[in-house]
Amino acid sequence: MALLPVAEALKRILDVATTLEPEDVELLKARGRTLAAPVVSRHDNPPFNASAMDGYAVRAEDVATVPALLTVIGEAGAGRPFSGTLGKGEAIRIFTGGCLPEGADAIVIQENVDASGPTITVRETAAIGANIRPQGEDFRKKDILLEPGRCLTARDVLIGASSGHAKLAVVRKPVVAILSTGDELVPPGNPLGPGQISGSNAYGLAAIVEAAGGEARFLGIAHDTIASLEECINASDGADILVTSGGASVGDHDLVRPALEKAGAKLEFYKIAMRPGKPLFFGLRAASGKTQYCVGLPGNPVSSLICARVFLVPLIGRLLGREAPFQAVDAVLAEPLPANGPRQHYMRGLLDMDASPPRVTPFKNQDSGLIKSLQRADCLVVVPENAPAQAAGTPVKVLKLDI
Ligand code: AMP
Ligand code: MG
Repeated sequence: MALLPVAEALKRILDVATTLEPEDVELLKARGRTLAAPVVSRHDNPPFNASAMDGYAVRAEDVATVPALLTVIGEAGAGRPFSGTLGKGEAIRIFTGGCLPEGADAIVIQENVDASGPTITVRETAAIGANIRPQGEDFRKKDILLEPGRCLTARDVLIGASSGHAKLAVVRKPVVAILSTGDELVPPGNPLGPGQISGSNAYGLAAIVEAAGGEARFLGIAHDTIASLEECINASDGADILVTSGGASVGDHDLVRPALEKAGAKLEFYKIAMRPGKPLFFGLRAASGKTQYCVGLPGNPVSSLICARVFLVPLIGRLLGREAPFQAVDAVLAEPLPANGPRQHYMRGLLDMDASPPRVTPFKNQDSGLIKSLQRADCLVVVPENAPAQAAGTPVKVLKLDI
């Protein structure tokens, strides 16, 4: 099988993926979730003509000449409206958030009033509408306030509550089962025996899954045998996505692909024209009555996390129904780049979004063994296959690592 270009591989993944079903969440759990249906306001905001200040509700014509003497006939606090009607020469003591009484058309702020007992002296004029927030000024009943596909922010949650919703319809989180493979792996925190390393991929992948809006589920570490792999793969039933790391090349111990196929996965592709990370399995598997997306990532931790950023994150975005899931941004090179080979190169670097246009500096050393350089990077510079040498200032596409 020829190496598949990255863009085509991604397109094939996104073409088969469909948005998951909606569910209702309480507002307290809504931040970071993806909206599944428009948020339509249940009432006007403000729901009534409201005072924006502490002061006195008056008729503007009564204070057209000042000083003006008015009689205070009642009070309107927030949540405690005045039930009567204001007449000529009268005022109502009112507080911020109070409902504008019938008959009043302006609010005089208390700083402009001398008050003693039931009579007040207004020292400044007030135009009609002064210090009043008119009903519906902010938004109206039936206004569409939020569109589906949004990742909900704190501000979105606030407006959901303001518009009368106790719950919001969001897309169910994709459950992503994560399987590490390799006889050399020990869980982090354990002492390393001869030839052993701390297994790290599952933790980085779980974090990226959660950041992308999914729910990570650990399947543990499979041994390099078909039987062990198959057992772990079958434990992923019920998950929307199965992600494996390692065992994806063609060595004697690289058994993930045959094990996935034995467990029912139908191969879509397994080699892409990408650096780092040539081996990348993608397939579909029927599990627990639904289609499971199987993504076999390389074992090398740098390759594994970069491939997850390039393929898994947009897949999760698509399952969530996000509009433009985690796309590349435009920047210019801060330094020249040498010509590229036949595989699209995802180079670790640092992005300066404050520069105009944004500038990106790819690291000199792109050795995929260097986990520390991935940790230091905040982006990946996308260098197309067979790109010629590029001068500083050349426009490039950049993927942010923090999503
Ligand atoms: P493999 O594709 O299984 O040959 O793995 C390629 C390299 O990545 C080997 O050096 C493995 O030890 C390493 N590796 C595989 N899985 C992990 C993991 N979960 N955490 C850290 N390193 C890993
Ligand atoms: Mg291995």
